Amino acid sequence: MKLNEEYWHRILNLYGKNYNKNIRLLKEFLKSNRGYIFEKPIDETVIILCSGGMDSTILIDLVINNWNSKVIIIYFKRDAKNEEWEEKAVDYFFEFYRARYPNNIVDLLKLKVQIPLRINKEYLDRNRQKILGLPMRNSTMWNNTVAQAVYLSGKYKTTIRTILIGSVKDDRDNPESGPLSLLSQTINTCICTAIWNWQVYSPLLDDSFKKGGFSKIDLIKYAQENDIPIEKTRSCFEKTETPCGKCLACENRIKAFSEYKNSLLTD
Ligand SMILES: [Zn+2]
Repeated sequence: MKLNEEYWHRILNLYGKNYNKNIRLLKEFLKSNRGYIFEKPIDETVIILCSGGMDSTILIDLVINNWNSKVIIIYFKRDAKNEEWEEKAVDYFFEFYRARYPNNIVDLLKLKVQIPLRINKEYLDRNRQKILGLPMRNSTMWNNTVAQAVYLSGKYKTTIRTILIGSVKDDRDNPESGPLSLLSQTINTCICTAIWNWQVYSPLLDDSFKKGGFSKIDLIKYAQENDIPIEKTRSCFEKTETPCGKCLACENRIKAFSEYKNSLLTD
């Protein structure tokens, strides 16, 4: 049976009903077990998950600029339609940041893992996908990244406990990448590895860099002010080199750019 989009919207709304309360509870849980929710990884080695999109790409600059973190970039070759163009963007910015911050960019690691597995995918309800995304897509990447953090801690003889994700304020209600999923992934990781210092987090969501956090427009502004060529980032989900202009990623990007232009006119 195929359910319509409205049905999945209702599910999403139900999920969001106790959102703020659940965030508070998860924060309290972390606080009572380790005394903090997030510690800025100043001078520490961190992993940043980069998709080649605007948000995660600009996050790299913010993290190094503000915290002098040593950064390992991880990109998942997850067999997505737009992989060729995502990977091109990731390669470009790896070189770009390596030239800008030679002492901070440690490595770019590409992990070839099909996410989610295509087995039985023909049965996926596309309406569900449109509203809720691919089931456990981000969480699967985050789990794989935790394992890499453990291995890479050995490789680089340091402790890597921070995995940074480029979620912005616009992602708040997204079950896959919003603050609730990040907190629950942090807790899940701490419990399943028996170590309480893990943090899977997006510092764009809180006051870490800027009071009130970052929306997509704030990121565009930051990129302009800091000479980051965001036109080289890739968001579109489709296979074509030229962005389709229609998918959700394109929609969000186009909206953010036009709002940014409007904000310049009214300034
Ligand atoms: Zn598109």
